[in-house]
Amino acid sequence: MKVRVRFAPSPTGGLHLGGVRTVLYNYLFARANGGDFVLRIEDTDQNRFVPGAEQYIMDCLKWCGLIPDESPEKGGPYAPYRQSERKHLYHIFAKQLVDAGHAYYAFDTTEELEQMRANLKTDINTNPQYDHITRMAMRNSLSLPADEVAELLETKTPYVIRIKMPGNHALKIYDMIRGEISFDCSLVDDKVLLKADGMPTYHLAVVVDDYLMKITHAFRGEEWLPSAPVHVLLWEYLGWKEHMPQWAHLPLILKPDGNGKLSKRDGDRLGFPVFAMNWTDPKTGETTGGFKEMGFLPQAFVNMLAMLGWNPGSEQELFSLESLADTFSIERIHKGGAKFDFEKAKWFNHQYIQNTDNATLTELVKPFVDIDLRFGNLDMEMLAKIIPLIKDRCNFLSDFRVQGHFFFATPEIQEEATIREKWNEQKQQFFTEWINELESITDWTHDVLEASFTALMPKHNLKKGDVLLPLRIMLVGAKYGPGVFAIAEVIGKEETVKRIKRVIG
Ligand code: GLU
Repeated sequence: MKVRVRFAPSPTGGLHLGGVRTVLYNYLFARANGGDFVLRIEDTDQNRFVPGAEQYIMDCLKWCGLIPDESPEKGGPYAPYRQSERKHLYHIFAKQLVDAGHAYYAFDTTEELEQMRANLKTDINTNPQYDHITRMAMRNSLSLPADEVAELLETKTPYVIRIKMPGNHALKIYDMIRGEISFDCSLVDDKVLLKADGMPTYHLAVVVDDYLMKITHAFRGEEWLPSAPVHVLLWEYLGWKEHMPQWAHLPLILKPDGNGKLSKRDGDRLGFPVFAMNWTDPKTGETTGGFKEMGFLPQAFVNMLAMLGWNPGSEQELFSLESLADTFSIERIHKGGAKFDFEKAKWFNHQYIQNTDNATLTELVKPFVDIDLRFGNLDMEMLAKIIPLIKDRCNFLSDFRVQGHFFFATPEIQEEATIREKWNEQKQQFFTEWINELESITDWTHDVLEASFTALMPKHNLKKGDVLLPLRIMLVGAKYGPGVFAIAEVIGKEETVKRIKRVIG
């Protein structure tokens, strides 16, 4: 049987890195097994639907290079891949469940539901559910006489369809990561399957679509584990048990400090992104930062995510997507949650920046330097020379702007005092003479510049230690940066002379 996996996001907002990791494991499993990877948009909850979120998810997948074989955009043999376009299908199966006695119509109004919760709430049962204990006290097709039910349906009284969870049933589920898990179904409420607006809930839609789309393995976040018994029973009740996918509930990605799932708030608090790409909430206009815009390379982001909850069984840490697909195995997915470590994420990106060829890096860095600063003198040729000079100091693509600002515009001289403290007539004369010499240099390379600088020092009785740091401060504004002559080569004659003259007058 052909392996078929799916990523099934609800388009409700930014794509959390945990979501991208779910995509990645799906993708790797499909690639490793010659299978298909499906993107299905689970957009049946009208209250949570956010315009633009679907396109955003697809853009994130594209950025990461995790391209689905079938999707709403691409189509495929099991189209449509958007649940809101498959509404008619869910009705058929909801009705089938009611007819077989595994689900029922419930006519309770919101007030009646609130009433029930208020009436049954006790110190022990603080959150009464609609379940095998309470259902017969409610207004549904199990508790009401058949003729009343028929009339309510006839008169189009709004209803939902609920699953009838067994009151006394221990269910065993096999999970590829966790092994056998037991559930006590009596603790699970009678979940709504079809809502009053005619839309299915996630529980019904996920089972129907995984069946119809012939999904063989379902990878999803651990937060879905409590819903698993409902889904497994639905597979059983619909008569599809032998087609049920194998489950893999992925461990959570945890806060770097403390316990619990890493949230957007943790990112804000600790100063790192949790979304793959910038996400702008269309309602509030608020933008939450993404790894892409922070200056991560998608390959580094994906590599880092692969290792958050999985290990290759060796010391190797750097993997291309292809080599991940060759190495990936479910057995090496961890059961426990993985603490997110931003320093490690940075390390991955640093490695990828060092390993990316300069021509490619030049293209990648360009938007990070010219969008923000709009330097008049930035051209690609100049950028190509800057990249190798400063790449070892950069963890993010955005660092090139910070580390190389003095290439693009004349910097403020922050450390002039350092020059002034030890300034003397010899140095004044040395620099005056050197800039005169510079005028006649035609072969403007760092080697030639350094040779002329060094050759002039003895005449003024100066050593490198006397004049090199002043030159650096003249060109950079401070005591850092790559080789000074390399800087002079890139910024050119006019700019070099101008920066020296600012100090010597
Ligand atoms: N629609 C669910 C979500 O938003 C998908 C869960 C699943 O993969 O079954 O995460």
